[in-house]
Formats: sequence, C-alpha cells, structure tokens
Amino acid sequence: MAKFQAPKGVSEYVPDRSSHFDYVRSTLINSAQVAGYQLVELPVFEDTELFARGVGESTDVVRKEMYTFEDRGGRSITLRPEGTAGVMRAVIEHNLDRGQLPVKVYYSGAFFRAERPQAGRYRQFYQVGIEAIGLADPRIDVEVIAVADRAFKELGLKNYRLEITSLGDSATRESYLVELRAFIAGIEIDAETRERANLNPLRLFDDKRPEIREAMSKAPILMDYLTPESAADFAKVQELLTALNIDFVVNNRMVRGLDYYTGTAFEFAHTDLGAQSAIGGGGRYDGLMAQLGGQELSGVGFGLGIDRILLAREAEGLLLPAESGLDLYIVPLGVGDAALLLAEELRNRGIKVDLAFGDKALKGGMKSADKSGARYSIVLGADELASGVVHLKEMQTGESSSVTLGALANELIERISNYGEHL
Ligand code: AMP
Repeated sequence: MAKFQAPKGVSEYVPDRSSHFDYVRSTLINSAQVAGYQLVELPVFEDTELFARGVGESTDVVRKEMYTFEDRGGRSITLRPEGTAGVMRAVIEHNLDRGQLPVKVYYSGAFFRAERPQAGRYRQFYQVGIEAIGLADPRIDVEVIAVADRAFKELGLKNYRLEITSLGDSATRESYLVELRAFIAGIEIDAETRERANLNPLRLFDDKRPEIREAMSKAPILMDYLTPESAADFAKVQELLTALNIDFVVNNRMVRGLDYYTGTAFEFAHTDLGAQSAIGGGGRYDGLMAQLGGQELSGVGFGLGIDRILLAREAEGLLLPAESGLDLYIVPLGVGDAALLLAEELRNRGIKVDLAFGDKALKGGMKSADKSGARYSIVLGADELASGVVHLKEMQTGESSSVTLGALANELIERISNYGEHL
C-alpha cells in the first residue's frame, strides 16, 4: 500500500532532532518568563476578518498566504498566519487591558502561511512570541528586544545581526506618506503594483524585483520625517540597547511584512541561513488595538521563528548539550516485572529512567544502555533481587559501585544534584 507523507512544505520534528527543537523552544520561553511574560494559549484558527483587519489587506500574508476555508456552519475561518492579532483579540475579549498595564504575555505554537516551500520557509512553522500591551514607553521596546537577544545568546548564536528602525507615529506617517505617494506617482509600475501601493505605499520597499528596488532607492526615507517625539523615543531605544551591550545597526529602509507596525521596528537576521535569514522580528503597533475594536492602547512585541533558530544553531555547529537527559538505564535479566516496578518507583522520585523491554541478553541490553545516552546503568537479575544490591555503573567512565536497592533512589538523587544542570 502507498505510504502517506506529510503535507507539502510543513516542518515536523521527530527524535533525535525534536530534542534540539524542544531545547530552542524552551530557551526562548524561559527568556520571556524571566522578564515576567505569562502564557496565553490561543486557538490556531480565528475569524478571517480578524487577520484581514489586523494584519492588513495590503500584505502578502493576507493577499496570498492565508489558509482560509469555510467551516461547516458557513463561517470563514483562517489558520493563524501570525500571533499578534489573535493575542489582541483575546486581550480585548477577556478585558485584560482593564487591569494593570502593560499586559505581558507570551505564546508558542504552530503558524500557517501558504508560501512556496524552500529551505527555512514552511507552510506550517513554529514561533514563540511575546506582546507587551498598554503603554507607549520606549523602555518596553528595549525589554522586548532584550528578551529575544538574551535567548539567542543563551542558545550560543553568534552570527546574527539586529536591525532596528523607527516607523514613526501617526503624525510622522501622515507627512511622510504624502511625500512618498507623490514620489510613487512619478515612477513607472504595473497596475497590480500600483494598486498595492495605493493600499500601503510602504510595501514597495519590500518588493524584491530589481527595477522596483532601483526606483525605490531614490524614494524619500521615513526616518527623515520623524516627529520630535518619535525621534526622541528612537534615540532612547538606541541609548538603552547600547547600555545593555546589545549590538544593532539602524536600517532606515526596513519594512515589516505586516501592516500594523509603528514606532520601533526590528529584525534579527542570521548570516548563515541564505535567503530566509530572518530568525525573528517585531515592533510597536499603535493603532492595532483600536482597529480591532478595543481601546486606543499601544503595544509592542515580536515573533521568533523556532525552525530557523534551530537551523541557525545547526549552521553554527552548535549541538545540543549532548545526551537524552536520562539519568538511569535498567537492563533486566529475566525479571521484567521487577524492573518496571523499580523504574516507576524511581520515576516517581523525579529520576529520569528508561529500561530495556523484550527478552534481551546482557550484551544486547548493555548496547541499549549505551545508545540511550543515560548517565548510569544497572543490571537487574535474580541475583540482584536476592541480594538486594546492584552495581551502579557510570557510563562515561565505566566505574561502578555497589548500592542497595533501598538506597538507590537517594544515591541517584544525590549524584544528579551534583551534576548540577546536567547540561
Ligand atoms: P513575521 O511575522 O513574518 O515577522 O515572522 C516572524 C518570524 O517567524 C520570522 O522572522 C521567521 O523566523 C519566522 N517565519 C515566518 N514565516 C515563516 C515560514 N514560512 N517558515 C518558517 N519560519 C517563518
């Protein structure tokens, strides 16, 4: 019978690579948690209108990349292409913005974009994101960037670059967009591109075609139109990043792929990843909440691509802090029941234990112990059960010592605490 394959262009993780994925994800989440961000777990599908309004009609994401379908009740549903719109919907719906501000939340999960698959670009991919909603303070912009940067450093990444810009406030935009529209009116572009530019003229900076790039290289730059308030906020962001030793470059032509950004915007690019180099990005969004029916509150956040961060670690040759994380592997010799009971007893004490199943001879059992990556192993047979003593073998050194079965759990716990984080 023909075998099934995963749908085209999805990313998925199975052992052993899944443990590397897990390590990246938990490091990103941990960096958010130490800064006081709390989990939101949201649906992977929402009303289509939420994304059309939240992400923006002019974006590639909304125009070409959404997985949209009608559900059985005739509602138009879309698989989430990004996290921020859903978070805002939930914050408004649950009145989180009526409590203490800023509301600080993080999310982690699968996102969906119908893109042309290639290395590092998938139709289902994974992000960890954070949002800080309710206060327009450039210090929060810096906190958000620092959460990402700390995680990247903890993951050992070196070959990445932080680019920042300011997209200005609404007054900045208003004066700038008049100039930009006038400029675009004077260049030669096809009808479809012009329609796109009419929806959001900033989008043309994003266009990859050489002739458009060439034309746009002469366009006015938003940074030159920043209001004094926006310029002061942007200066504060740079000052604090410098104080935190977070390297950055100002890229005054950066355009984010989503329409809602204002003020500080940023992107992390990894230099070893080829075309799909963005490992994360985000920024401030002033109008989004009101646009989705909530209060006039500002927010700032990011989305980091777990898949690409894993690829970046592989490109930099950063392997996992070894091992499966197992503390003990039990090789039973004809006493399978007793071995399982012992494993469960130890697991209940928080020790990570695996054991050989099936009737394995000693040699096969020891091979499995080796492969398991466990720190210690014991052989458990009728003799050990009769004497109540096992030989606890340290796999790396080959050294073993006698321990009574009654003392085994405490002995292991003691040794585990001595190998600290056992990374
Ligand atoms: P964005 O919301 O487009 O700024 O995406 C945030 C991050 O998610 C990017 O910097 C990427 O790391 C990741 N990402 C976005 N789209 C994809 C995709 N199709 N495949 C893999 N990762 C993606």
